[in-house]
Amino acid sequence: MYQLKFDENVCASCATHDCLTRCQYIKLDIEQAKEERRKILLGEDSRVLSECATCYACEEYCPYGNHPFYQIVELQEARGIHPAPKPIEKQQVRMLAPEGKMDYRELSAPVIDMCAFGMFEKFSIQGKLFDGVSTISGNDIFCNLMYLHFAKNSVIKERLPKAVDNIRKYYVEKNKLAEVVCFHDECYATFKSWAPAFGVEVPFKPVHFFEFLLREMRERKGEIRQLPMRVAYQRPCSNRLIPETQPLVDELFELVGAERVQRKYDRENALCCGAVIMTHGRDDLAEDIRKRNIDDMKEAGATACVFNCPYCLVALGEAVAQEGMMPLLMSDLCRLALGEQLKGWGE
Ligand code: SF4
Ligand code: SF4
Repeated sequence: MYQLKFDENVCASCATHDCLTRCQYIKLDIEQAKEERRKILLGEDSRVLSECATCYACEEYCPYGNHPFYQIVELQEARGIHPAPKPIEKQQVRMLAPEGKMDYRELSAPVIDMCAFGMFEKFSIQGKLFDGVSTISGNDIFCNLMYLHFAKNSVIKERLPKAVDNIRKYYVEKNKLAEVVCFHDECYATFKSWAPAFGVEVPFKPVHFFEFLLREMRERKGEIRQLPMRVAYQRPCSNRLIPETQPLVDELFELVGAERVQRKYDRENALCCGAVIMTHGRDDLAEDIRKRNIDDMKEAGATACVFNCPYCLVALGEAVAQEGMMPLLMSDLCRLALGEQLKGWGE
């Protein structure tokens, strides 16, 4: 069985306990943080288990890569804690279950893995940036990482190895692919963070979607029109697991001439979009976060908001638009810089 790799001795000698003292959702001083971390390491109950908003940020805050959030999720499940109401949890687990409908397909590189979100293809994988790409999607290759929000790490352990094997067997080997581009930040985070943390082998090279966009945009550098836009960036929870991809955002913004506005809730201080917290039934907290986040974008003078995660876009896009800011995915921003018209949602 897949076991989390972490070293309790590292926590025992940790001077800062950044994982908990920097948490934006549970207020703990250093002594309280030490005590709650001690309880978690001993497998005891801790207020963190029930108060955690599952924002993933402590995975980034730990300076030693000792997987504090994965520890929390393991213990939540072991102790029968359910962050979301059980009917919602069950429905989510059932809704994205593997279907066993895999078949070999001829693909031409580059291949973009849309995860279980093939529905985004018709408005996100459009225009010259995507000429000649192939896409793959479906529940049978779903990364399953979202079950971290439901304290169901066991579902990821059960389904991810099979999904990875499906990608290898039916797509990568069959088509001799050198790499697989991950449309969803969460897939890349699964392959580069969760999988090594739990000892699941990934037998292909994942590429972050922003890396793909950068390559394509650099090839078309002569066609880029500079965009005089002030843009707020909504960093998703999954990106806390792969902070090494953060510079890609700045590089893309610089390439298209957009200014990433300086605001309070960006980078390591990013706020969750609120959708998951709403699913947990914590409506007041979700609304508070949503308001603080959007007010912050407005105060920073943003005229647009670029989302990394489609789920964040669905959760916040309308509210952002109502405040006069254009909601965009990063691929939309790139396409605007290439002078392309964007299709509306669902067209
Ligand atoms: S998880 Fe990281 S930050 Fe937290 S106590 Fe352990 S070593 Fe320190
Ligand atoms: S996942 Fe987020 S809310 Fe939960 S303990 Fe870590 S930093 Fe705090």
